[in-house]
Amino acid sequence: MTSVLISGASVAGPVLAFWLRRAGVDVTVVEKADRVRGGGYPIDLRGVAVDVVERMGLLEPIEAARTGTRALTFVSERDRTIASLTTETLLGEQSIRAIELPRGDLTEVLWEATRHDVEYVFDDRITALDDRDDGVHVSFRRGGPRVFDLVIGADGLHSGVRGLTFGPEAPFRRDLDACYAAFSVPNVFGLDREAVMMNVPGRSATLYAVRDQPVTALFSFAGPTPTLDHRDTEGQLRLVEHVFGGLGWRVPDLLVRMRRAEDFYFDTVSQIRMPSWTRGRVGLVGDAAFAPSFRSGQGTSIATVGAYVLAAEIAAHPDDVRAALPAYEARVRGFATANQDLATSGARITSPATPLQLWTRNALLRSLPALERLGVPSQGGAIGRAANALTLPEMPVPALVP
Ligand SMILES: Cc1cc2nc3c(=O)[nH]c(=O)nc-3n(C[C@H](O)[C@H](O)[C@H](O)COP(=O)(O)OP(=O)(O)OC[C@H]3O[C@@H](n4cnc5c(N)ncnc54)[C@H](O)[C@@H]3O)c2cc1C
Repeated sequence: MTSVLISGASVAGPVLAFWLRRAGVDVTVVEKADRVRGGGYPIDLRGVAVDVVERMGLLEPIEAARTGTRALTFVSERDRTIASLTTETLLGEQSIRAIELPRGDLTEVLWEATRHDVEYVFDDRITALDDRDDGVHVSFRRGGPRVFDLVIGADGLHSGVRGLTFGPEAPFRRDLDACYAAFSVPNVFGLDREAVMMNVPGRSATLYAVRDQPVTALFSFAGPTPTLDHRDTEGQLRLVEHVFGGLGWRVPDLLVRMRRAEDFYFDTVSQIRMPSWTRGRVGLVGDAAFAPSFRSGQGTSIATVGAYVLAAEIAAHPDDVRAALPAYEARVRGFATANQDLATSGARITSPATPLQLWTRNALLRSLPALERLGVPSQGGAIGRAANALTLPEMPVPALVP
């Protein structure tokens, strides 16, 4: 195997590209955006995902980009503080290795670590894949046709490679009956390295303030998945205004700012669950294969680990794609599923749906500091177990083969 095409230059794509280059494979990454997408909300690397970036020699720049979030404060619609907790108290993270950093900082570090020896093609996408005996024949929207030994979709929840190889998204998408809208707003709230979350039953508004960057605002709401066109931004804006209209706290101001935001993003809260992530010489990794939804808090970690294991199996079976891909799948499946399952318990904290659930959640939050002092494990026990539920294989090729 000498040439691999990866679709998607976010987290899974560049991690896979990094390790495949170490294995002496020629790597091309095609990305539909015109550059690596920066900005965005804070994400987490936890457990074995931290070991992966350490093996890449990237722990230092990633540590340097830590958000340093001091507290997550839960407030009522009338701006009364319910509880203000450190992430360590909330998630019990003392027991696991964990780094929270802005998503754009991570993608920048990964891009910087790969851009010199990986061919990046921006502003393009795959339009057809034909898996033949001599390789996968690939057509692009802009570039000319090419042939690769292997094609990997690392192109997110709405993966184009998955669509071309496995068919429509619907049978693989598990909607968690909620939607979210995310956008940046200037930090006019006086927030400093902290997050504030306001909940009413079935709806939440959150502000994440990271160092000197704009604040990320996140609206999330429960309800049947609306049938909205992904390109219908006006329809999405109106839906959010309708669902959040009339709420207190900072919501009226945020709704005005949402209309002015240049990076408004709307989607359903969904997972991808597939019986198989590979077919012939085509495979999927990261959100494209096993998106866990942001409620799990583990999407970035499992994308990172999945990409590392995939590269390790390709390096271990350099002449046999048909052995490498199933071996990757066998190693990662249990780990991915355990982390996807965290989305259910995460929702109890971030998205209580009824007045009773909200009351119970608030009582739990108020008791967490005392429980921590008593040594009672919190939600973090489950996150720690899932984040470490895989033993990393050794990469058989430590040095870069030019
Ligand atoms: C609001 C929000 C909050 C989140 N919070 C957290 C969190 O706290 N902790 C956490 O760990 N995770 C979080 N996540 C999830 C995390 O962002 C993803 O799980 C993670 O980024 C997965 O990485 P990926 O590389 O697989 O896919 P993505 O990051 O989705 O990247 C896919 C890439 O493929 C490109 N692409 C898409 N389609 C095509 C195409 N057809 N052709 C070419 N390129 C294409 C995209 O432009 C993008 O660059 C959150 C996600 C969201 C949306």
